[in-house]
Amino acid sequence: MHYYLGIDLGGTNTKAGIVDDQGKIYCKDSIKTFADRDQYEIVHDMGTLAKRVIDACGIPFNEITAIGVGAPGTSDNVTGELIFTGNLSFRHMPIRDEFHKMIDLPFYIGNDANVAALAESKAGAAQGSQSSVTITLGTGVGGGFVINNRIYSGFNQAGCEIGHTVVVAGGEPCTCGRRGCFEVYSSATALVRDTTRAAKAHPESILNQLILDNLGHVDGRTAFIAMRAGDPTASAVIEHYIEMLAESLANVINSCMPEVIAIGGGISHEGDALLLPVRDRALARAFLAENIAKPRIVLAKMGNDAGIVGAAMMAMNCMEDGLIG
Ligand SMILES: [Zn+2]
Repeated sequence: MHYYLGIDLGGTNTKAGIVDDQGKIYCKDSIKTFADRDQYEIVHDMGTLAKRVIDACGIPFNEITAIGVGAPGTSDNVTGELIFTGNLSFRHMPIRDEFHKMIDLPFYIGNDANVAALAESKAGAAQGSQSSVTITLGTGVGGGFVINNRIYSGFNQAGCEIGHTVVVAGGEPCTCGRRGCFEVYSSATALVRDTTRAAKAHPESILNQLILDNLGHVDGRTAFIAMRAGDPTASAVIEHYIEMLAESLANVINSCMPEVIAIGGGISHEGDALLLPVRDRALARAFLAENIAKPRIVLAKMGNDAGIVGAAMMAMNCMEDGLIG
């Protein structure tokens, strides 16, 4: 059995775990990232966390094959550099060199959404498939592509930012500078915006009353709760959300025809209320002949472990491919 150390570098928490070659976690631990610190301090703490997990796990050090890190932003797995992160301070950080000073193991780094997709492919909802796309509906819309059992992230490892593909030209403004991106209609942030607008436009609605009862608090569940209470205003918000998500998923199918699309992130906790109508509409709109096999659209399974497992599996793939770490 080979073991890998997976590290999930997040804006709030940094998690690490020992994972076997089937994607099973043996032990894990986490620390606060304290994101506004100097980048070298953060990397030093990542190394300390990694050593702690290795010590606590009881697996001999010589059975641990490599370290993988999933990080937000753009990294270069050839040079071992974390080039840029949006919500952390990393700018051209030679993270592989820094890790080698602390732990003598091959070290690999990839984008967090991409490694999460690899986790679904190896051990989660897309297990057994050759190609899959994992879409995360959270604060933004994350996307990761796995093609022939490997992460596909473009020639420069800066792809595939599916959340920033435009579905409505001139639509809602996006943080990326464009308008009408997938993300500004299908993220939790988008659903909160549309829920708030609908409640203001329909003060008589159950939706508005629900928000008032919650002292103005709105989240990704609010419209679903009011819809289940029979509110037509909330139903219209969800109908629009599902419609836009289905159109974007049809775009994903038409672009790369993955065997599986796994949907994760906070909004995916709505389960079948979200999945079933989105699946029907996306497949109906995709450019697919009648008797041809259809992609499977399913809920993601890996949850909070996706980052650790995916980072470890990415390290495993890099070792198999003979990449210098
Ligand atoms: Zn955008």
